[in-house]
Amino acid sequence: MPLSEEPRGAYVPRKRLFIGLLAGGSAVILVLAFLLWWVPSVGLRSIHPLLPVLLGIVLGIVCLLIVLGLSLLVLTLLSGKDLFFSQRLRGIVIKYLFPAIIAVGRVVGIDRDSLQQSFIALNNQLVRSKSLRVPPEKALILLPHCIQLFDCAIKITGDVNKCVRCGRCDISGLSALAQSRGIDIAVATGGTLARKIIVEKRPRFILAVACERDLTSGIRDAYPLPVIGILNRRPEGPCINTRILLAEVERALDEHVISGRP
Ligand code: SF4
Repeated sequence: MPLSEEPRGAYVPRKRLFIGLLAGGSAVILVLAFLLWWVPSVGLRSIHPLLPVLLGIVLGIVCLLIVLGLSLLVLTLLSGKDLFFSQRLRGIVIKYLFPAIIAVGRVVGIDRDSLQQSFIALNNQLVRSKSLRVPPEKALILLPHCIQLFDCAIKITGDVNKCVRCGRCDISGLSALAQSRGIDIAVATGGTLARKIIVEKRPRFILAVACERDLTSGIRDAYPLPVIGILNRRPEGPCINTRILLAEVERALDEHVISGRP
């Protein structure tokens, strides 16, 4: 399967939602910047004729930076290539734009899950644009506990390799995949344990599987580490017997982890 294609049945969230809100928010900021210049410029002129010009230059630079940043983000997403500063762009999206977009989304009535899905898709695309490839020992697959079958008697938190691969849940396929590629795999029961695992294993690339909320906070917590987020499926509702499309995991590993296989 070509890497540019999503695996059959893969969930494809919309980056456009996040970008659309970002563009809308930027347009509002540009209008506000104009008003901020125009309204006081009448009074400023009476103090000194150059003051409105100076204020105009400062606000113009701010507007130019906003437009350039947004254009660069959109171009990076459209081309799929690391044009300039994609790591810096991801940082700005994660630290500043995400909270702002969530607030804007709340005002215009867009549900949080859709925005988080869009954010995860955007993050994944920015990570992909860096064409990062790490050796298997520097990669980590991080899973939520809810992927394990609810009534499995084996405790795999701490050591996924204890799974006897009975095939009743996706831990079976995931642990076989990780073992065949020589990649570390771990199950985290929450953000604190996930952070501890990351500190211990010191990966250079993380493939994380979780729900919208946990992936969003995980991607933000782990920054600047590159994290590709894959949403789990919840056929029985949240937090119980969740599933993963193995082909999605394989695709991300093919893309970012150097194959140790002959
Ligand atoms: S594959 Fe079987 S043994 Fe492994 S975690 Fe799932 S239910 Fe338990």
